[in-house]
Amino acid sequence: MYYDDNTLVFLDGAWLKARDAQTNLYVQALHYGNSVFEGIRSYRTSAGETQIFKVEEHFERLHYSAGRMFIPLPYSVQELIDISHQLLQKNGLSNAYLRPLIFSGPNMSLTTPAESHVFLCAWQWGKLLGDQLVRLMTSSFQRPNPKSCFVDAKVSGHYVNSILAASEAKAKGFDEALLLDADGHVAEAPGANFFFEKDGMLYTPSRGNILPGITRATIFQLCRQAGIRVEERAFTIEECKEGDGAFLVGTAAEVTGVESLDGVRFQRPWANTLGATMQQMYRQLVLDEVLHEAYL
Ligand code: PMP
Repeated sequence: MYYDDNTLVFLDGAWLKARDAQTNLYVQALHYGNSVFEGIRSYRTSAGETQIFKVEEHFERLHYSAGRMFIPLPYSVQELIDISHQLLQKNGLSNAYLRPLIFSGPNMSLTTPAESHVFLCAWQWGKLLGDQLVRLMTSSFQRPNPKSCFVDAKVSGHYVNSILAASEAKAKGFDEALLLDADGHVAEAPGANFFFEKDGMLYTPSRGNILPGITRATIFQLCRQAGIRVEERAFTIEECKEGDGAFLVGTAAEVTGVESLDGVRFQRPWANTLGATMQQMYRQLVLDEVLHEAYL
């Protein structure tokens, strides 16, 4: 699904066939979740070129995450960008999802790793949550407490929480989870940020208990361009349920509309919401970034 016999990956400075790439089973990453990663999308633009969307921002965040976890990352942002372009080229990919992973080396103790490995792969991937509107469920799981980890870093171990929440939601017949923070305010979905609309304005949780996404920041840019007001603040699930609409945003999910929250449907038809406007503008931006960025 993620590779075939011809797929090439980058591992520690070498290009290898994905099926031949190997790792040591004693890596700290595998036992304790100490690795950091990114999820990046590339698009074939309307000009016919391959554009890796917000690539600098993603590799800057990767460096931030690695720094937080004391995982050595011996490649600069520019080197990682160059490797990413080669990765796409070598695999004949244009519309793709790129996954850089920096994982700590063999170490069974709970100390910071002396050694790390740099792995990059890419594959074709549809929208994370599909093209339909999603039915959200308030999760019984909270987002990780920001006093127990760096919640704004993209660390593999944090995703155990995401897997629990997403699996619970699916087991209960919903499409996706919406997690709260330790104070009972809305935080985010397992792999996407959340916005809701009320009386012509958008609201999204402030930084602090979330991964402040690159797509979330892009939505702020687009709103500025479109003259739509966005407020970052704390709010409850009950407040969201009185909203006119809602949507999730993330690199993999892009902009995905929300149909209902805990079975309560948003009254306004999706096509008439600010979420739908953002979905269209985001699509235009990723396919035509150069042209569009000039306006931002
Ligand atoms: N929150 C979480 C927990 C995520 O995993 C992601 C996906 N990286 C996001 C939000 C959205 O982040 P971005 O827009 O940078 O992909």
